[in-house]
Amino acid sequence: MRRFYSYTAPVSSNSCLCPDLRTPVPGPRSRELAQRLAAVESPNVTCLEPEAPIFWERAHGSNVWDVDGNRFVDLDAAFGVASVGHGHPRVLEAIARQSENLLHGMGDVHPTEVRTALLEKLVSLYPGGASARGVLSSSGSDAVEAALKTAVLATGRPGVVAFEGAYHGLSLGALDATFRADFREPFIAKLPGQTVFARFGDVEDVARAASEAPVPVGAILVEPVQGRGGIRPSPPGFLAQLRELCDANDWLLIADEVYTGFGRTGRMFACEHDGVVPDLLCSGKALAGGMPLSACLGTEETMKTWPASRGESLHTQTYLGHPAGCAAAHATLEVIEGEKLIAAAARSGARVLESLRRQLAGAEDVREVRGLGLMLGIDCRDSEVAERAWAQCLGRGVITLPAGDDGRVLSMTPALGIAGEGFEEALGIVCESLR
Ligand code: PMP
Repeated sequence: MRRFYSYTAPVSSNSCLCPDLRTPVPGPRSRELAQRLAAVESPNVTCLEPEAPIFWERAHGSNVWDVDGNRFVDLDAAFGVASVGHGHPRVLEAIARQSENLLHGMGDVHPTEVRTALLEKLVSLYPGGASARGVLSSSGSDAVEAALKTAVLATGRPGVVAFEGAYHGLSLGALDATFRADFREPFIAKLPGQTVFARFGDVEDVARAASEAPVPVGAILVEPVQGRGGIRPSPPGFLAQLRELCDANDWLLIADEVYTGFGRTGRMFACEHDGVVPDLLCSGKALAGGMPLSACLGTEETMKTWPASRGESLHTQTYLGHPAGCAAAHATLEVIEGEKLIAAAARSGARVLESLRRQLAGAEDVREVRGLGLMLGIDCRDSEVAERAWAQCLGRGVITLPAGDDGRVLSMTPALGIAGEGFEEALGIVCESLR
């Protein structure tokens, strides 16, 4: 078969060059594009005022170039997705090779080897070595929906205990378990209203919340580290306590590892810090190195409550098991293991946490620096401080992301192998923006 594609990586996957700005940020081309976008995109999608965003043109390793030729350091890895760096050559190669043969398949009707092999790999990674099964989908929200449906099938009880500050996605089922009032309120009439919220980190409050549930509870849904909620690691032992509570009440424990999964926190899955085996585990983001692929995994016992398909799958999608996405995921997992990126994240996460704490000690605008592995957050005095720091960083060529229910936390989730001069310079810029 003729190969149409040959890829040569311009830079190494973990490379992080220093910021290099050619124009003010945002530059003239970004401003121009913002005007065009404003005319055609739904007004709620992109924040275009008072300042235009930078429009991305290309990205390699931990650097992003915008349409004005400015080079940024991406300390966010684009929502934690580019864990192996943007455009890792092995990932691009895998996508190219797969695409030449079969770009799109026929989901649940005509499966592929690449999907089979990916599921074999994913279930082999299930925490505690438990035997597991999975269902693939496209987004993190999809994986949460699959877990919520599985929990109903497995327990017959639709109620869910989630946590204050939780973010599980914005599709209606996932939104029911997402805490933020501003996301929920416009659609409250459409939400199932079957989730109750307990204080994050407080196991006793879970019992209180469950007793107030409008429907019988079947599951606890928890992020081991709250991501969009403001980089809040759960206290050590909390997940283990939730596991016990679930066992005692015949509830399922669903770990939402969409943000934390695949090495982000210094373990393959964050629930492993507590030695916990969840009944269901949602993953996405970093799974496929930049392709939209997610997975709901679960123990054999839990997943077998789905009936065998007799021709019409009860839970599928047009793009289920997208072949190019599966190939990318395979390559991503190989890179994570081959380049020992989980150990790298644990090591550099601990070093950076310590260094940020030291440099920001006594800064009056900073309440706390916290994190686990390479999931780091600077909790600022208020959202204005965080917003100002975020804008200052961007203006000097460093991409971070505000997080937290009130946007008070400056979050950083860089590529797991990030290293070098560009990384150090970017961290220095972050500290300067808060001192
Ligand atoms: N769960 C968690 C923990 C997340 O952080 C996110 C996304 N930030 C989601 C679910 C939803 O994922 P997606 O945006 O891909 O639907």
